[in-house]
Amino acid sequence: MNNLNKFLLALWGISLALLFIVVATVDQDKTIIVAEGQMNIEEPIPSPTINIEYDIKDKNEPISEREQQAPKESIRLAMAGDILLHLRLAKYNDFTSSFSAVTQMMQSYDFLIANQESPPVGNEYPLSGYPLFSSPPHIIRDIQHAGVDLVTIANNHIIDQGENGMRTVFNNLEDYHMPYVGAYKNEDDRSTQRIMEIGSIKIGLLAYTYGTNGLYLPQESPFLINYIDEAKIKADVEELKQSVDVVAVSMHWGSEYVYEANDNQKHYADILNEAGADIIFGTHPHVLQPYDKLINEQGQETHIFYSLGNFFSTIITIPNTMIGGIASLEITKEGDWITIDEPELYATSVLLDADGIYRVYPLKDVEQRSVKNLQWVKQIMGQHVTVY
Ligand SMILES: [Zn+2]
Repeated sequence: MNNLNKFLLALWGISLALLFIVVATVDQDKTIIVAEGQMNIEEPIPSPTINIEYDIKDKNEPISEREQQAPKESIRLAMAGDILLHLRLAKYNDFTSSFSAVTQMMQSYDFLIANQESPPVGNEYPLSGYPLFSSPPHIIRDIQHAGVDLVTIANNHIIDQGENGMRTVFNNLEDYHMPYVGAYKNEDDRSTQRIMEIGSIKIGLLAYTYGTNGLYLPQESPFLINYIDEAKIKADVEELKQSVDVVAVSMHWGSEYVYEANDNQKHYADILNEAGADIIFGTHPHVLQPYDKLINEQGQETHIFYSLGNFFSTIITIPNTMIGGIASLEITKEGDWITIDEPELYATSVLLDADGIYRVYPLKDVEQRSVKNLQWVKQIMGQHVTVY
């Protein structure tokens, strides 16, 4: 090989090397661009988990595909926890002031349910608190003015004043035109499905209680209490499901003052999920319990708020019972397609003000005065629900 050939060979080698470097650089650039793209996509998500990705897909992708085909309608369904008036509260002549700090929020929901735990029978029975409650009927008027659209009366205190007390409960609810679910005047009333039509969205409501503190209505009583019963729940949900877009069930269950769902609650959550219930709002423990979502093999999703805590009550010996909340979910309908999403808990705190009145406040506004703060509530509720 002469010098010229050696030179050409060297030049060819250098060219090859340069080409390789250029290609490598371009490839590297591409990789960086892709990586930046991924970062941009992921940036708004605080902690990317499988569940959060699922939510985003569920909410954005299928909706945008269907958007041209059907008009879209969204509503927010909500439920507040226990309204249980101890004697010091039962004596109030007017509850407007007690709810004034949360009234705007209560009225912002398209439909708000509450658990009226203490029977509103004070026009017929002396006012009383624990253990056999008798509350003034104007509690119904005032929660209605504040934004409550329907009460569940399937709970362990509703027959505290016996069968005649139950008659007064129904009379007073009817006088104030307050719809109810979970206890019934007779078989006809029980077989009348509670279907709420909000815009084009039909929501069917059911409510059950684990018991009534060992009190029972007489055998011959026309009144009926919806006790938790596997076969009845399955039949009710399956039948109601045929007429509505969404089945929401209030369950009065769980262990008092415990911050987690027990095995019994989880068992019935599975039963409700299998039967086709879409939403479960739990009450009774007097404290908050987590949010969870079940999905069965057929793809039936069930959103569960295991316990909403107390909304308006004064179990002052157990201060954490002063913290509760309003749970809500967004229900979207496009054509026949229903999406339920965006679980939220609006945390609340009952406080005794300097004027001697107990009032419900948004917890975020009174963290300094409250027994617990929002961070504490977030830890109980879990990471898959927005708490504010
Ligand atoms: Zn209860």
